[in-house]
Amino acid sequence: MDKILTNTATELSKKLESGEITSVQLVAKYLEHIEEIEPTIKAFITITKEQALRDAQASDQRRKEGKPLSKWDGIPIALKDNLSTKGVKTTCGSLMLENYIPPYDATVVERLKNNGLIILGKTNMDEFAMGSSTESSAFYPTRNPKNISKVPGGSSGGSAACVAAYEVPWALGTDTGGSVRGPASFCGVIGLKPTYGSVSRYGVVSYASSLDQVGWFTRSVGDAAALFQLISGYDPKDSTSVKVEDISSLESSVTGGVEGLTIGVIKECFGEELNPQVCRSVRASVEKLKEAGANIVEISLPFADIAIETYYIISTAEASSNLARFDGVRYGLRVPAEDVVSMFTKTRSQGFGEEVKRRIILGTHVLSAGNYDKYYRKAQKIRTAMKKEFTKVFEQVDLLITPTTPTTAFGFGEKQDPLHMYITDIYTVIVNLIGAPAISLPCGLDKESMPIGLQIIGKHFDEKTLLQAAHTLENLLDQEVEM
Ligand code: GLN
Repeated sequence: MDKILTNTATELSKKLESGEITSVQLVAKYLEHIEEIEPTIKAFITITKEQALRDAQASDQRRKEGKPLSKWDGIPIALKDNLSTKGVKTTCGSLMLENYIPPYDATVVERLKNNGLIILGKTNMDEFAMGSSTESSAFYPTRNPKNISKVPGGSSGGSAACVAAYEVPWALGTDTGGSVRGPASFCGVIGLKPTYGSVSRYGVVSYASSLDQVGWFTRSVGDAAALFQLISGYDPKDSTSVKVEDISSLESSVTGGVEGLTIGVIKECFGEELNPQVCRSVRASVEKLKEAGANIVEISLPFADIAIETYYIISTAEASSNLARFDGVRYGLRVPAEDVVSMFTKTRSQGFGEEVKRRIILGTHVLSAGNYDKYYRKAQKIRTAMKKEFTKVFEQVDLLITPTTPTTAFGFGEKQDPLHMYITDIYTVIVNLIGAPAISLPCGLDKESMPIGLQIIGKHFDEKTLLQAAHTLENLLDQEVEM
């Protein structure tokens, strides 16, 4: 593999600008590497080779004429396969959408294109973003580039794996309960989930609309900040989109330190489910932040203990409603049958996999007349109480810290019981329930050399402080490696 492929997008941008490499050369190198390792990693569902080379050529032409669209013009990227791409298959990892070609681009995709980024392909995922390992993709599982006998995490496992395997410098995913942060932690890359409402969901296939957010994988905090600046911002096509202020200075702001910041360590996230090696690593990083001048306090958030139950009631309820549109009439698969009701039934029974069906049944159950008050309404009340609790905590602290996942990446087939799989997201779902921004960054390795991830949670719309602290920790940990 050519060493240039290990560069961050920021470094590549400089090389394109100085003329050290052209976009066509860069894209060709990535494609060559993809061809070589994809049979092993299987991070992609679709590789848009020809289009990527044509787009790279156009980018080089713009640069030659002195008219690049942005600093990122000519840099490759990959997209999770639930982000609508005009003219390019968007499967959601499901047989239901196996041959579905959207007639329009998601807003985030449009923004990337408007900045001249080159899309290399669409990445593998758990079916309809439901899962924590990418094993529930209808097509094939993706392997963790750090150890191919392990899962890459999910549901955005393909995007995490392709960044970790140097198939692209960065990639977009989605995070409903941890699907960016979890795989980032398992694959040893950075994963950012921005504040709910800061990045448009228009054109993102819905799983649970009140929790879904586009997020991304990068190999540096600076790149994570750059992508935020690129694709966040108000979108009239998404009714939950909010005007984000003051993002113009974000990239440069990630250079500040943590001195004077108060960081809360959530006590409930260091319980007995936490692997001792993960615990040690996260605690050691907290210590480093303290040495760098942060004020560390222990915080108790009793609601953290019931976040997973609350999340699975709300997310499945919303999923059962969102997925009602896949009925063989409007999109994707249609299994012909003698009458319309059997057509619905056969289409949904053949088009959806086991996990998706489980969620639809659970969601329908918690929304049904007899159970609504008992489950759904109660979960919503807990969600409101959680938000209040967080608001109170954030009056005392600037940021919160937890491990990203209770363990490092596990082996294929290890979590047969769905409940064991659900527990993987125990520390991440809480962030989606309250809508805050959070980042996962690699903070060490376990005995088997698998990456450990640490999660930092920020205040709503305060990506700036979040990225600043993440950047500081990234530097502190880098120095450690160098020593
Ligand atoms: N693993 C969680 C779930 O299955 C989160 C998924 C996600 O964030 N898309 O619901």
